[in-house]
Amino acid sequence: MKRLLIPLLSLLLLIGCQSDKGSAPEGAKEAPARPSGAMRFVTIGTGGVTGVYYPVGGAIGKLINDKRDQYNLRISVESTGGSVFNINALMNGDIELGVVQSDLQHQAFQGQGEWEGRPQAKLRSLFALHPEAVTILAAVDSNIESVADLAGKVVNIGAPGTGQRVNALDLFAAAGIDPTRDLRAEGIRPAESAGMLQDGRIDAFFYTVGHPNGSVKEAVAGTRKVRFVPVAAELIDKLVSQQPYYAPALIPVAPYPGVANSEPVPTFGVKATICTSADVPEDVVYTITREVFENLESLRVLHPALEVLTAQNMLEGLAAPLHPGAERYFREKGLL
Ligand code: GLU
Repeated sequence: MKRLLIPLLSLLLLIGCQSDKGSAPEGAKEAPARPSGAMRFVTIGTGGVTGVYYPVGGAIGKLINDKRDQYNLRISVESTGGSVFNINALMNGDIELGVVQSDLQHQAFQGQGEWEGRPQAKLRSLFALHPEAVTILAAVDSNIESVADLAGKVVNIGAPGTGQRVNALDLFAAAGIDPTRDLRAEGIRPAESAGMLQDGRIDAFFYTVGHPNGSVKEAVAGTRKVRFVPVAAELIDKLVSQQPYYAPALIPVAPYPGVANSEPVPTFGVKATICTSADVPEDVVYTITREVFENLESLRVLHPALEVLTAQNMLEGLAAPLHPGAERYFREKGLL
């Protein structure tokens, strides 16, 4: 599993921490529950480098790593396949923290979807982060103006392990589209989607992601004209009424100069959340939770998708039980 995690040293150096994969999981598990002693290492699994999870993981890592001598705690940030990968890596003990879509947190804990009949009972939540919109980008010359128009096209629904793959399949089921028969579904990593759309190798791609983000900017900045595909109101209603974790969402167009849309684009969405395992020590989770909440102001400015965060909305959208370390902090602060 470890070899699937890609260390990206350049950004890690930029955010002031280093990957230290070798000792990470063991270091965290055997950590003494006291502030002094040996340095404890925690790895946070994120997503593709051009998404929001990766820089957000870096922002959380920076808060802790700036005080690593005080806490004897260091976070390293890994680029991974995304939410589904992160849940499985958390449950295997390969990572200690993971950014996870709220819908997949729900499904994993309940034993649904990818985890049908296999509830991930040790999955725990810390807090929620930014909203994520199920985003469909299509080349204007492919004549895709609605979800139904994806039929017959080459569509990157997302690599296995990504959250968008699950959301794309849910949307197709609601729309009566069979992805194995009605279109050519590709499973390409998010960092490659924008380039492949511009190169004409795909007609459209799915990305469940916070806005603004680098992948979408890259996708709309090329010579091939690109639009966001809106999701029709009746499809949104169907998904939101069927599933507790879906909510209506709007994709802003202002951050994306060059995109063919002129109005915010309706779709459905979820929330990004931070998860862990029940096996991760209480004081480690307490320290990370406290550091994030006591420095919300500085976290918000580290990525524009985080601007909307408040202590209150960071407690919404959590389906797995709170980890005792997070719960202790929220009780101390009267947030629960
Ligand atoms: N929501 C995506 C996933 O779970 C990742 C988005 C991002 O990297 O910002 O796979």
